[in-house]
Amino acid sequence: MKNKLSAENLRISFGTKDVLKDINVSFREHEITALIGPSGCGKSTLLRSFNRMHDLSADAKITGTIKLDDTDIYGNDMHATEIRKRIGMVFQKANPFAKSIYENITYGLKINNLPHSKDIVEKALREAFLWEEVKDDLKMPATRLSGGQQQRLCIARAVALRPEVILMDEPCSALDPVSTLKIEELISSLKDRYTIVIVTHNMQQAQRIADKTIFMYLGEVKEEGPTTSLFEDPKHELTSNYINGQF
Ligand code: ADP
Ligand code: MG
Repeated sequence: MKNKLSAENLRISFGTKDVLKDINVSFREHEITALIGPSGCGKSTLLRSFNRMHDLSADAKITGTIKLDDTDIYGNDMHATEIRKRIGMVFQKANPFAKSIYENITYGLKINNLPHSKDIVEKALREAFLWEEVKDDLKMPATRLSGGQQQRLCIARAVALRPEVILMDEPCSALDPVSTLKIEELISSLKDRYTIVIVTHNMQQAQRIADKTIFMYLGEVKEEGPTTSLFEDPKHELTSNYINGQF
């Protein structure tokens, strides 16, 4: 399968602090890739670099290249709004807008001048395994949903824009085990249509859903490979220590 997204010689620093040192990674279409590694190793920084969230941070210095298909997303050809339409993001804490369930889906569609009919809203909610639970309450404020439902709504909001890539930063770490499994099932169902990158602290989760796993340590990629081989036969001692819970 072809590479959809890649970073080449990516370095990011904040002020004098080098957070990503020389990252070379790629993500294939129709695959789920897990990013794992100890807190502070740079997982979120890497994920955010893929939809140019560092544009918002004045002291960030970025060198290297990030490509979506063959286009450099930091080049002049692409605006941040186009990138954020093509590369969706879901955060650790579900962050629905303070609006109705329905408007949570239509808001981004309107901003991007995309059709926003009821059918389109229904399709997005179905795709996020939420339609049956909310179809009679579409006018209800989204903040009244449970945590797991709010996270599925955020996924619905992302897929409604028909992105090519979906980035997820610990999407289940604020959820109970049952909601977590439901979201895992949902994420697995999305991989036919999207390229998915998920940061997770949950080693079982990585093994349940990810085709490929990348282990990061202190701003570098230490090891990567098919999830089964990385977990069953880690090549690096740091990987082995980390996946066995030693730090
Ligand atoms: P992870 O997601 O793996 O826990 P992060 O990418 O959030 O790690 O952070 C990596 C390092 O970069 C941390 O030391 C963090 O303090 C630092 N960092 C992240 N964002 C910023 C920022 N905007 N300004 C300064 N330092 C930052
Ligand atoms: Mg993080």
